[in-house]
Amino acid sequence: MSNVIEICDHEPTWIGHVALSACGRCRRVDWLSQTGPIDHAEAMAAVFGSYDLIGPLDALGAPAPRVLAYSPPTKSKRRHLDALPRHTWLKTGPQLWLSHDGELLLLATTRQLLFDNIIRGA
Ligand SMILES: [Zn+2]
Repeated sequence: MSNVIEICDHEPTWIGHVALSACGRCRRVDWLSQTGPIDHAEAMAAVFGSYDLIGPLDALGAPAPRVLAYSPPTKSKRRHLDALPRHTWLKTGPQLWLSHDGELLLLATTRQLLFDNIIRGA
């Protein structure tokens, strides 16, 4: 049908007490808590905070020159990535994008300070 308007399904995926809705069409991620919207930095720390920083990566096609790769510490934590479409840069903050390839979480930002604050303990 040519006149069907496709509406995105922004169904949230719950990971612990945080939910994310990731949309490859809109290229964005929204974060929720049980009480409503939650700051993306706080939410990402809850979901990906245990990931280990591997280091900077040459990521062609990334929306920012700086890309950092993070590795999940366990298989069950790796499954958190499945809530996001693969190989798609999604905007999650004013100057922050994330992506993954099924194994590694990739973060791109134009602001170095964000990297230092987003994921602790790396
Ligand atoms: Zn959408």
